[in-house]
Amino acid sequence: MLSIVTLTLGPVQTNAYLVADESSGEVVVIDPAADGDLILEQAARLGWQISNIWLTHAHFDHLAGAAAIARGCSPAPPVALHPDDHWLWRNQGGAPLFGLRIDPGPVPAIDLTHGQILHLGELELEVRHTPGHTPGHVIFYCAAERVVFCGDVIFQGSIGRTDLPGGDYQTLINSIQTQILTLPDETQLLSGHGPSTTVGRERVYNPFLS
Ligand SMILES: [Zn+2]
Ligand SMILES: [Zn+2]
Repeated sequence: MLSIVTLTLGPVQTNAYLVADESSGEVVVIDPAADGDLILEQAARLGWQISNIWLTHAHFDHLAGAAAIARGCSPAPPVALHPDDHWLWRNQGGAPLFGLRIDPGPVPAIDLTHGQILHLGELELEVRHTPGHTPGHVIFYCAAERVVFCGDVIFQGSIGRTDLPGGDYQTLINSIQTQILTLPDETQLLSGHGPSTTVGRERVYNPFLS
């Protein structure tokens, strides 16, 4: 059973997800957006020990909390990222473009690949490569729980921006069509910004997909 706590953090209100498998007690952070100490506090309050950090992509607003989490955990949880976003990670996730500086935290030690199965206790999450917003963007799909952590690929009524370095509109639309709209309608989409939605709702109402 997946237990999910959403924290909306940082200058662009990014959703960080604390995700636990209730039966095993295993916990990951998906996109530690900012305020790593606050994420740690929240985990501690729940009695949760963070064992991994998974990044949907390397934009600074999705990883600026990783450094503090790494400092606050022993051993430091390894960071997982798709290799096509390593260049972005090395450039502080594009923070300098916005006049910001961040510490991106520990160098990603786990390479995510399309089709890879990640384990969270008993649960399995499938990695799907969804380039377009960034070249190395991935989503994490838990079929058993009918939920996708979809980062900045798709939002309620909108899609990820493609005007930043490495972005490409047609590539993004193709990723959404092949990796998201192929999922069952009732699948919950937990996005990097804004409220959650479902595949079925976006299939009908998302103005970018009609
Ligand atoms: Zn982004
Ligand atoms: Zn974002």
